[in-house]
Amino acid sequence: MASGNPQRLLERFLRYVQIDTTAQESAGTYPSCEGQWELGRLLVEELHAAGVERIEHTQHGLIYAWLAPSQGVDSVPVALLAHLDTSPETTGRGVKPQVVRNYAGGDIRLPNAEALWIREAENPELTKLRGCTLITTDGRTLLGADDKAGVAVIMEIVERLGEQPHRRHGPVRVLFTCDEEIGRGVEFVDLEKLGARVAYTLDGHGADEVDVETFSADLALIRVRGRNIHPSIAKGRMVNALRGAARFLERLPREILAPESTEGRQGFLHPYQIQGGVGEVTLRVLLRDFKTSKLSEYAGWLRTEAARVEAEFPGLSIDVQIQRQYRNLRDGLSREPRAVQFALEAYRRLGREPRETIVRGGTDGALLSERGLPTPNLSCGQHNPHSPLEWACLEEMEQAVQVVLELLALWSDVRE
Ligand SMILES: [Zn+2]
Repeated sequence: MASGNPQRLLERFLRYVQIDTTAQESAGTYPSCEGQWELGRLLVEELHAAGVERIEHTQHGLIYAWLAPSQGVDSVPVALLAHLDTSPETTGRGVKPQVVRNYAGGDIRLPNAEALWIREAENPELTKLRGCTLITTDGRTLLGADDKAGVAVIMEIVERLGEQPHRRHGPVRVLFTCDEEIGRGVEFVDLEKLGARVAYTLDGHGADEVDVETFSADLALIRVRGRNIHPSIAKGRMVNALRGAARFLERLPREILAPESTEGRQGFLHPYQIQGGVGEVTLRVLLRDFKTSKLSEYAGWLRTEAARVEAEFPGLSIDVQIQRQYRNLRDGLSREPRAVQFALEAYRRLGREPRETIVRGGTDGALLSERGLPTPNLSCGQHNPHSPLEWACLEEMEQAVQVVLELLALWSDVRE
């Protein structure tokens, strides 16, 4: 790791996390907060300063940058992606990062929160990180390493490619996206403009992981319609949609096929929102499985149960609408097996032991892969995302820089 510049990487990361880019679901604008513009403008300046000539900050706040290949290389373009926003689950306003240098082991206290500690027992990966530089919050906000670790890693790669002309690489495309955390990360991504053959999101956990699968996902919108009438004259006339909805929910499995009772490769049906009253109730249920074919099985099951409840409550109608969300990343990656092979090879060349991992959720890469751009997700030193207990490891971020530089070298021999 001698050729790196960890101090610059650290300063970069600290600069980015202090800009509040909390995504706001109800904003009505894209991107959903001003901070994403602010961070975007800073990145454009830094890209210019690093010598990148072609940069576009789009009307939607996305940043594209095109890096020319190194001398004499004529290979397929590779894109590197990260997202500017942070999760609305914990505020990102007023982030005061705490830098723990030469971590000695043990629990880490967060300075501005009573009784908030990052416990070694709850974070077993800490035992391997003695002597490292860790970055935590002060306990009042999230850190935003998800995904400013990815942003910092990519910016550092851009700067190193400029400084180290001996490194072999093909054309590199950088893309910073907005509002990933509220499911709108790739809405305005123009794949033709990006013009890449393969892409990598730098948005992964810890180190040495290549995310190669995500859930396949649908959303069920369930409308329960009853009949409302004043309770004083309701006898034999009222049909209470609330009672029907409650009955329906009761029939959803809880011991199996629920997020609270599953892990690993197990799928689930997850009711997460209920709205309405006597006349009408709307339920939202997430359908998730690694096997895409299972989703239609789950939908069929919801319809069967809906019919049963209708039979139990004469006059009640239950309508089940399925909306497609995203598909297992693996489906899209299978078209370009080298996307994952080369990533694993890059780790091995650095003497590391990579793992192929699965995500019990979605990534921007799942949507991009479905649209034809194979996009695995790589580790970049994130831990405990979306939480005041979030932390990042500088050495793992530096590793991500090295891995991607190696990966770009591997792709530089590929012409189609
Ligand atoms: Zn992320």
